[in-house]
Amino acid sequence: MAQGNPKIRIAHATPLGHGARLLRVERVDGAELGFAGGQYVIINTGVTLPGGKLAKRAYSLLSSDAEQRAVEIAVKRIGAGPGSNVLNDLPAGAELEWSGPWGKLRLPPGFSGRALLIATDTGITAALGIAQSAAAAGAAQLDLLWLVESEDYFLSEPFVRERLPAPVRLSVARDLPPVGHPERPARACALVSEQHLSAGPYDAVLCAGDGAVLYPLRDRLTSLGAPEGSVLLESFFNNPLKKSL
Ligand SMILES: Cc1cc2nc3c(=O)[nH]c(=O)nc-3n(C[C@H](O)[C@H](O)[C@H](O)COP(=O)(O)OP(=O)(O)OC[C@H]3O[C@@H](n4cnc5c(N)ncnc54)[C@H](O)[C@@H]3O)c2cc1C
Repeated sequence: MAQGNPKIRIAHATPLGHGARLLRVERVDGAELGFAGGQYVIINTGVTLPGGKLAKRAYSLLSSDAEQRAVEIAVKRIGAGPGSNVLNDLPAGAELEWSGPWGKLRLPPGFSGRALLIATDTGITAALGIAQSAAAAGAAQLDLLWLVESEDYFLSEPFVRERLPAPVRLSVARDLPPVGHPERPARACALVSEQHLSAGPYDAVLCAGDGAVLYPLRDRLTSLGAPEGSVLLESFFNNPLKKSL
């Protein structure tokens, strides 16, 4: 018998400050998601776009991968964007088609080395997932740098600190120019100083967020001595590779 597309249910929704929401979701069939920290799911928001396609959007799992049934995502409203608005408005109990988990922004299973995580903007969700997974595996050192434009951008710093396992050292830089600002990439590169890399050496550097920033940042990290190939990127938006297609 043909099976329908797998669904998740919004089990619980909590507002998060200005225009964002924390959603606890679970599979309708009760099965585990089978994700690793840093991975994401794609949710079919049910909204039909002007061209006739359905708006399917990616969201990183920010909860610990030690819990595979009730998992969490956080969604920031982006202007009149169809997906983020639906996910900020749907009531608890709503069911949505999904696929996943997806994504290579993760540390190898059992990673016990030193890792630097850099998040811009909403990329903090992926960094939270990775940090919890790595701390549970016994990583030797975890440093997290979060670059945002203001204090009330998305998740609050207390929320992030509360979710971070004790060994993670968090620094937050709150003066990143807004998304799309021509000086944003250069400012982000300036915020990542030799001081950050000298806290290593790191076995892995994982970055998530604004693609317009992440690629120049990777060049900056390499120039500061990060081993070639050790820096993994996940663009949440402004993905330059997508634009060139
Ligand atoms: C791997 C991955 C993981 C993601 N994880 C999260 C997450 O955990 N939480 C979350 O809120 N979003 C996340 N996103 C972004 C999300 O998939 C949607 O792009 C976002 O919710 C906007 O969707 P929309 O339909 O409302 O607007 P759209 O119409 O799709 O977006 C409008 C424009 O805004 C851009 N955009 C998306 N996010 C931002 C942002 N933060 N700031 C500025 N512009 C942006 C889009 O690229 C697009 O150009 C992730 C994206 C990817 C690829």
